[in-house]
Amino acid sequence: MTINCRNPRCNAPVERLALVQANVTQTPEFGDWIVDLVLACPACGQQYATALANAELQPIPSEANDD
Ligand SMILES: [Zn+2]
Repeated sequence: MTINCRNPRCNAPVERLALVQANVTQTPEFGDWIVDLVLACPACGQQYATALANAELQPIPSEANDD
């Protein structure tokens, strides 16, 4: 499964984004704890910002970590 990079000069099909930042921080507006994510296209380096509510984090059972 791929998405296409939204940078018009790239538009590459992307299977995996590079992790640039995953900072746990507090929103100034609501005081909620969030994970402030920055992801990058591996083809052109275009960065994408998004945020995840702390409550969305789901612990993965340890056996699922074994590839
Ligand atoms: Zn790109």
